[in-house]
Amino acid sequence: MPPISSDALVLRSYKLGETSKVVVLLTRERGKVRAVAKGARGRRSRYQSALEPLSEVRVGLYGRQGAELYRLGECELLRSAFPAGARGLDEAMALSYFAELLDAFAQEGEAEDAVYRLALAVVDAVEKGSSVTALARYLEAWLLRLHGLYPSLDHCAACEKELPAGEVDYHGPAHGFVCPSCGPASGPGLTAATRGYLRRIFGLAPAAVGASGEGESASLESFHRDLIRRHLERDLRSIRVLRDVAREVR
Ligand SMILES: [Zn+2]
Repeated sequence: MPPISSDALVLRSYKLGETSKVVVLLTRERGKVRAVAKGARGRRSRYQSALEPLSEVRVGLYGRQGAELYRLGECELLRSAFPAGARGLDEAMALSYFAELLDAFAQEGEAEDAVYRLALAVVDAVEKGSSVTALARYLEAWLLRLHGLYPSLDHCAACEKELPAGEVDYHGPAHGFVCPSCGPASGPGLTAATRGYLRRIFGLAPAAVGASGEGESASLESFHRDLIRRHLERDLRSIRVLRDVAREVR
């Protein structure tokens, strides 16, 4: 049977036996898949550096459609994530957070072209030197939105009337922002500046958004973390790592 051929982003890999790896890929054609890369841990591995997280590869996958585990055949490196990660520690850590975030949201066997393009654009922006903090908020916001989890910034989640301009208040039980007559809201509230920054995120390419003020970034970070936690029912590992490193640096 001929292999399934697809472009893919490497999300992560883990050891299998003495010499092989299982690679988790976000493929353009079939969403998230797992594939065994035989001999990938050997010194003369033909995969070499093609299996680094967020590198883009063109793969040949052997196995029946909908298989739990494919076998990785050809794996041609299209674009290495190495130049992005080599910019510095912040960039390297951000890439591992982005890969974990994509892995957590991606559905097995379900192609999501918009997510794929989003991931490519974000890695590209890291390589070109955009703020990784801004890109983290960008990727979170868009992954949540593409999965239908970002509350509307325009309409009240309770009565559907248009929200007034300025700050917005989130109400947990309504899963969205509510207008003053549907309040009082449980919170958190987002300032007018934060709401404006979100409009930039949802209106511009990642490299064009630019950094936000510290207040906006901090409130979006915790707002997104709550939305992500509610969806995944857990915290992501990289968030804890990033927090520990920030503490060490201080
Ligand atoms: Zn309302």
